[in-house]
Amino acid sequence: MAPRAFDERVSIDQNRRLVTSLPGPRSQELHARKNAAVSSGVGVGLPAYIEKAGGGILVDVDGNHLIDFGSGIAVTTVGNAAPAVVANVQEQVADLTHTCFMVTPYEEYVAVAEALAELTPGDHEKRSALFNSGAEAVENAIKIARTYTGRDAVVAFDHAYHGRTNLTMALTAKSMPYKHGFGPFSPEVYRAPMAYPLRWPTGADRCGDEAFQAFVDMVHTQVGETNCAAVIIEPIQGEGGFIVPPQGWLSRIADFCREHGIVLIADEIQTGFCRTGDWFACDHEGVVPDLITTAKGIAGGLPLAAVTGRAEIMDSVHSGGLGGTYGGNPVACAAALGAIATMKETDACARAKQIEALFVPRLEALRSKYDVVADVRGRGAMLAIELTAGAGDLTPNPKATAAINAYCHSQGLVTLTAGTFGNVFRFLPPLSSPDHLLTEGLDIIDEAFASVLG
Ligand SMILES: *Cc1c(COP(=O)(O)O)cnc(C)c1O
Repeated sequence: MAPRAFDERVSIDQNRRLVTSLPGPRSQELHARKNAAVSSGVGVGLPAYIEKAGGGILVDVDGNHLIDFGSGIAVTTVGNAAPAVVANVQEQVADLTHTCFMVTPYEEYVAVAEALAELTPGDHEKRSALFNSGAEAVENAIKIARTYTGRDAVVAFDHAYHGRTNLTMALTAKSMPYKHGFGPFSPEVYRAPMAYPLRWPTGADRCGDEAFQAFVDMVHTQVGETNCAAVIIEPIQGEGGFIVPPQGWLSRIADFCREHGIVLIADEIQTGFCRTGDWFACDHEGVVPDLITTAKGIAGGLPLAAVTGRAEIMDSVHSGGLGGTYGGNPVACAAALGAIATMKETDACARAKQIEALFVPRLEALRSKYDVVADVRGRGAMLAIELTAGAGDLTPNPKATAAINAYCHSQGLVTLTAGTFGNVFRFLPPLSSPDHLLTEGLDIIDEAFASVLG
């Protein structure tokens, strides 16, 4: 059977349309209420309040149709309010909203665990445990690795992002805004250099080998291999700026972990579920992690996260050691089953590759035209450009990045920035977005560059 098209059955008109300037008057009213009622610690990128979304469009309360290049940070991969997600959720929520899986279980949780065993890298026996958020999945992956190995230390990388809870703040690299003022942080977290080709001191060609050697030396001298419970790694870094390590680096880390009995945790919370053109980014190099954390794209927008891994590791935890009141909520699980079915039926991995093919020539054209564009990178529908001072000067250019981002917002294109230095402009469109919206969004980005850099 041929894959069905993504955008069928989406009722929202798939055209950008601005009927007010952004944010419009109703959004401004809501934003005043937000500022009076919601902590200022919860920031907002573009204060256009959304009331409907689908395909590649977000509709705000003033009736503006915005183009979505963010997917709510890589969550609505199958589209917002995707038909199969809505249908499963509606049926499930009318039948059963909650029992707590640890009290009296239900089938949907088991079905999600079965799907994870089928889809995640490797054909070994697997088990899963479900949680509410990515950070919670990461914390549990570390707990599991520590129990299994009887060791304490965990190694993470420069530019890593693993969440905002105490242990995951410790794993996250960037201080402002994620960690600033929130310490002290969880101990026994060590940091290795990231293989960041653009910024490797001796150049991109030597980055893979030297970064791997620096990692090995760090583990040996600062941690001790036999004290190391886990190495946690994003196969393509997300919030850190869509950093793609050189081919082979990840598999060398995996080999090192295997050799020393260290649990390799792939944090695929942002890269997972077809985003990069494979079911998981590890598949690209055939790397099989011991544990994998997933969330974001897994459930089409409902909160769900998972740790999946080798049965002997996952089953090393004492009964009752893993869980939580809401983890694997039946409505979120039903949504995940709908999202996964949609990914299979639409061949979402192929769609992500089409999006890459559509974007990359346009982003490369920007690199040719503007010397502030120092890098075009990413994979599938997870793509970014990094902006610097230009003319070979790699000084980060967060100012131009913010100005270009703001221009896009003013034109009704919802874009995101990222990166340790705030100088990465990143693209995470829903795979359900029709091509004409992607092209129009790229046209707006061209205008934004012309307007800001003239
Ligand atoms: C978003 C993200 C997290 C944290 O997920 P939350 O659901 O926000 O807690 C962890 N790791 C990666 C790679 C992420 O992109």
